[in-house]
Order: sequence, then structure tokens, then C-alpha cells
Amino acid sequence: MPILVHKYGGTSMGTTERILSNAHRIAADIRRGYNVAVVVSAMAGETNRLLGLADAIDPKSSGRERDVLASAGEQVSIALMAIALHKVGIEAVSFTASQAGIVTDPFHTRAKIKSIDAGRLRSVLEKGGVPVVAGFQGVTDDMEVTTLGRGASDTSAAAIAAALGAERCDIYTDVDGVYAADPRIVRGARKLARISYDEMLEMAGSGSKVLQTRSVVFAKKYRVPLQVLTSFEDKPGTLISEEVEGMEEILVTGICSDKTEARISVYGIPDQPGIAAQVFEQLASQGLSVDMIVQGKGEDGLANMSFTVTKSDLNDAVKATEVVAKKLKARQVSVDEKIAKVSIVGVGMKSHGGVAAKMFRALADKGINIYMISTSEIRISVVIDEDYTELAVRTLAKDFDLIEEDEGVVSA
Ligand code: ASP
Ligand code: MG
Repeated sequence: MPILVHKYGGTSMGTTERILSNAHRIAADIRRGYNVAVVVSAMAGETNRLLGLADAIDPKSSGRERDVLASAGEQVSIALMAIALHKVGIEAVSFTASQAGIVTDPFHTRAKIKSIDAGRLRSVLEKGGVPVVAGFQGVTDDMEVTTLGRGASDTSAAAIAAALGAERCDIYTDVDGVYAADPRIVRGARKLARISYDEMLEMAGSGSKVLQTRSVVFAKKYRVPLQVLTSFEDKPGTLISEEVEGMEEILVTGICSDKTEARISVYGIPDQPGIAAQVFEQLASQGLSVDMIVQGKGEDGLANMSFTVTKSDLNDAVKATEVVAKKLKARQVSVDEKIAKVSIVGVGMKSHGGVAAKMFRALADKGINIYMISTSEIRISVVIDEDYTELAVRTLAKDFDLIEEDEGVVSA
């Protein structure tokens, strides 16, 4: 029998009524001929509540104990979900990550999955039962409890779907799918029926918060389609899958914006081999990663360089940059926190020219200045003044045809 994985996020697990309604949905998929495995998050707000307790005693408390604490949220959820399934007449067995064999590296609070031994889950499925697995948790080879990082239960679900060879992993969340642009910014933004793994990865890396990047990486690697949908209504969501014919005909699939980065500029550095290497080696040695980079010549034969880092890394990044800037006798280091990155994503860019020109023209016509540009095969990102973010997103959504036609407007 084909296997489906259902993943329920915090809001979908928020009350006992919601949990029971999920049980009915699982029962319906079983009646349709599927074997269903379930992955759950902690009830809405629970992980924050638990970690808040630790912070109240000591914000610098040990990662090991924080993981034991935070993972308790998901342990509550698996038991409640299994109880709800029993109530609607379905055999179900709850599993903590260690019972389910989800083995991770030993890095507390940000562990990565190394392997999943799906044998126990499979034996429940073979008997027609539903294994209910705790998302977010892991266990090390030494039986230590780990967690995979905030919001990582999507990643657990995709990894379990991969390990079980599931036909699809349905991610039930509080939005009803992936939109071409954030509907809070662009009224009437189109909901996407389908999007490719690569486009979703670029969107997740460009500010879309619908899915964690790591979950899409798993899904792509093991070719498990993901579906993002709501548990509050009965309607299809967005399917994330391999690229299919026709996807390339659309120029731009989605637009994202991201205000979480800041720009560091270094002025007046020598224009010779090895300078960029020195700057970025210094940052890398502190575990800091850089997103966009621009380098250019100044008037005086010296070079200028700008790059972006996430605001949470900004202080450390500035310190590291100042260390090299001093060595290189740079004229100045400056920081701009009021920037935003706006990106357009679409596999159509591979086969259509002129997309960048169209994007830059649209922004120019609104008087929006572009500070930095970076591209991949299927993405173009620009850094602009933060105040223009919403205007840029709306303008691009309109120009690239990502807004539904107005309902109720009848053309003659
Ligand atoms: N409960 C965890 C968190 O709040 C994991 C998740 O919900 O994805 O971060
Ligand atoms: Mg979540």
C-alpha cells in the first residue's frame, strides 16, 4: 500500500478539538487506501513556553538540558495524537525520536539527522496501524536527546517520508499553500498549485517562511513530493515536486523579500590578488557566513567591497571585518542595517532572456535604487533601501503577472 506522511504543525495541534479533527482526516486517507505515518510538532506556543522557563533561570543554560526540556513539547503531542486516533477507531503507536531511531550528530539545539532506522515504524504500518512520531527531536549514538533547531519538525517529516519511501508528505500548517508573493504585502497574490524543489529552495533562502530550507533539501534529495496545505479547511494546497513540463513557460514563479540582512562595506582596500580571500577567511574563521558580495574599483586605484550578513551575526561580523580592515589599512568600514533583499525566482529564467532587464526597469520606474545584485540560474536578487520593500514587491508582482484577476470585474 502507498504510504503518506501527514505532518501537523503547532497551530494544527493547538487544541484537543484540532487534534481530534486531524485524527478524522488521517482516518479518511486510510479509507482511501493509504498507510499513514504522522509527524507532529508541539502544541502552539509550547516550545517557547518551555524554553522561556529555562531562560527565566538561566538564559545560558546548557544545550543538553534545553534539548531535554524543549523536546518534551513534542512528546505531549505524540501521545495526544495517538489517543485521538484510538478514539476514532484507529490503531496508533506513538514514538519519541529515540524510539523511532532518528539518529543525529551531537550538536545540541541544532543537530542534523544522520540516519533513520525506520524498522519499528514500518512494522506498525505493516499491521495497518499509524506510527505517530515526534518531530524536532533526535537522539545521538550515545543516547543523548537532541533537537534539530527551531521550526525543524518540517525537516523531521521530510526525512521520515524519505526513509519510508512515502508517496508524498503532506505538511498541514496555518497557511493554505505557497503564494507567488506574500499576500500580506500583495493583495490577491496568486496561490501556486505547483512549484519545483529548486524554486522552493531559492524562495526559502530568499525570505519565504512557509517551509524550512532543510526540509526541501531532504525532499529533493529523496524525491519525495511535499504538499503544503491547511488543516483548517478541506482544499488542496501547493505541491512541491520535480520540475514538470510547462513550468518553464512561466517567467517568474515567486517574489520574496527579506529584511533580516545588513550590509557591511569596506572602502579603500588594495586592489590585488588575495585581498578578498583575507576578508572572507577572517569571517569564515568565526563561523560567519556571507550572502551577497559586491566589489568595485574606487577613484583612487583602491577597491571597495560590500557584503551582507544576517543581522543576528552583524556585531560579530563587524568585529571580524575591522580586524582585517586594519591589517589592510582600509580607509573605512561602514554598516547599513536599513536594507532589504528582494528576489524573483522562476525556472522560466533558464530559457527566457530579459528577465533581469525587466526587473531593473520596473524598479527604476518607481525610483528605487539598487545597491547590490546577485543571481543564480533561477533567481535574481537585489538589495534596496528597506523603506521601498513593499513597493518593490507589489510592483514586481504586477509586472510579472503574479496577481489573480480581480474577481467580479466583468470585461465587455
Ligand atoms: N516545536 C518546535 C519549534 O517550535 C519545532 C517546530 O514546531 O517545528 O521550534
Ligand atoms: Mg513549526
